[in-house]
Amino acid sequence: MNAEYYDDIIIGGGKAGKTLAPALVTAGRKTALVERSLTMIGGTCINVAGIPTKTMVASAKVADIVRNSAAYGVNTNTPMINLAAVIQTPLLVAERSRGATCISVSFLK
Ligand SMILES: Cc1cc2nc3c(=O)[nH]c(=O)nc-3n(C[C@H](O)[C@H](O)[C@H](O)COP(=O)(O)OP(=O)(O)OC[C@H]3O[C@@H](n4cnc5c(N)ncnc54)[C@H](O)[C@@H]3O)c2cc1C
Repeated sequence: MNAEYYDDIIIGGGKAGKTLAPALVTAGRKTALVERSLTMIGGTCINVAGIPTKTMVASAKVADIVRNSAAYGVNTNTPMINLAAVIQTPLLVAERSRGATCISVSFLK
């Protein structure tokens, strides 16, 4: 097995790592970024924290607006919440975000 040498090795492909790595590469350094899990590329925010919670909050806001639409002069039926879809949506958003992160990280040298 051949040894590889790097100027910097960043542990974790979260918000910090994916921001720092391209900056170091742009500065001419040979940088490796190590992420322990394929389902955590992009880090906590994208996969299990900020983005998923805000996506579910957005679903709740839509339901609330529809439920109270008459107050705005718009008559609608009572919203039916598809909880499985509410839970699935953040997973799809996270998957898309991981894809975008993979593309940007793959440009690292
Ligand atoms: C519910 C919630 C909501 C949030 N909302 C917001 C918000 O609205 N706005 C905001 O700015 N911040 C928000 N945050 C905070 C934000 O998620 C963190 O500040 C941010 O994720 C920190 O980035 P990081 O790169 O330091 O760590 P992380 O994003 O946690 O990344 C660390 C990465 O390192 C990897 N890792 C860990 N150990 C190893 C190892 N030994 N080897 C290889 N890889 C490893 C992990 O898998 C992970 O991908 C929220 C947090 C939570 C919990």
